[in-house]
Amino acid sequence: MEEQGFFYRDTWAEIDLDRVSANITGLKELLPNDVEIIAVVKANAYGHGDVQISNTALMAGATYLAVAFLDEALSLRKKGITAPILVLGASRPQDVSIASNHEVTLTVYRTDWLTEALTHLGKEQTLKLHVKLDTGMGRIGIRDKQELQTLEQQINKDVRVELEGVFTHFATADELNTDYYQQQFTRFQEMLSWFNNRPKLIHSSNSAASLRFKEAGFNAVRMGIVMYGLTPSIEMEPELPFPLQESFSLHSRLVHVKKLQKGEKISYGATYEAQAEEWIGTIPIGYADGWIRKLQGQEVLVNGIRVPIVGRICMDQCMIKLPCELPLGTKVTLIGEQNGEVISVNEIAERTDTINYEITCIISNRVPRIYKQHGKIVDVYNAIAD
Ligand SMILES: *Cc1c(COP(=O)(O)O)cnc(C)c1O
Repeated sequence: MEEQGFFYRDTWAEIDLDRVSANITGLKELLPNDVEIIAVVKANAYGHGDVQISNTALMAGATYLAVAFLDEALSLRKKGITAPILVLGASRPQDVSIASNHEVTLTVYRTDWLTEALTHLGKEQTLKLHVKLDTGMGRIGIRDKQELQTLEQQINKDVRVELEGVFTHFATADELNTDYYQQQFTRFQEMLSWFNNRPKLIHSSNSAASLRFKEAGFNAVRMGIVMYGLTPSIEMEPELPFPLQESFSLHSRLVHVKKLQKGEKISYGATYEAQAEEWIGTIPIGYADGWIRKLQGQEVLVNGIRVPIVGRICMDQCMIKLPCELPLGTKVTLIGEQNGEVISVNEIAERTDTINYEITCIISNRVPRIYKQHGKIVDVYNAIAD
């Protein structure tokens, strides 16, 4: 590994790139051949690492990447990604010139945005756009026929701009009740009929919809959470069309081990008290790593056994109750598998009253990422040494 790849702390996340590939292959096999996969790598690929996931996704058959913000697209360009990238969220009109320079596709969702954006685009510059239609998500997007037709005319009049795509986003595609999905789908089809010339790429499905609703595939789907091997919702889990392979795991090591006597206490507030003689281990991970204080009491794996976090979680460390005296350096798994015992991202999400999406996103970039492929370490990324 290069010098910058090293890290000097016994806490790391591991990303299994083979599993990411397998998840993409799973979806690819489910989709008709002419439906493209847009790999959604916003938020540093949901905490997994944008460039590594982008490369893996493109190798596995994705043809387009999507991020939320222009900065994320530029970061990928800087890291050498040349594939098309779509910015799904709002960009500022004054930034179209830089988007054009780096061949980044932007989302347009207002005519006044376009009017202003065009004043910032150089004479020789070109810009690709996808238009976002709001069919019921209520976030960004055009809702009105007149506005869409004005936008289409505006774009047609300007040779510098290409309307390459049109898309919408479902609010309830991961829920068993499909009524609202159906309404949005019908509305999208109606809105598509408002075009004089439909753009080349039509996409509406996120992961959940791409697994469940063939008709919403059009000619591209946006694959986020499923690429990482996580279910879009707990209620969808029983009906997943292929098994998902969780690619993210989180590990640490015992850096201190001690015996407590009955009545001795642990951590801020001295809230935990040993009930008898107890072996307590310290691991170097805390809430600044995204291992939030709400995870007090959560179990972790040591030698394949579940043991609880005891006392309050500190900014950089927390303590666990050990089954016996264990050597310093013993591996502790906070998310992932040890000897067949598994702590899933979903378990952590449930414990913290949130969804799996949030968990991998909030493991902060203070935690180095190790990438594995074909059983070998292929990359190490330590953001704070970058
Ligand atoms: C984040 C996002 C996605 C990906 O959703 P998943 O549920 O992770 O597949 C797709 N489309 C848009 C517009 C998004 O913002």
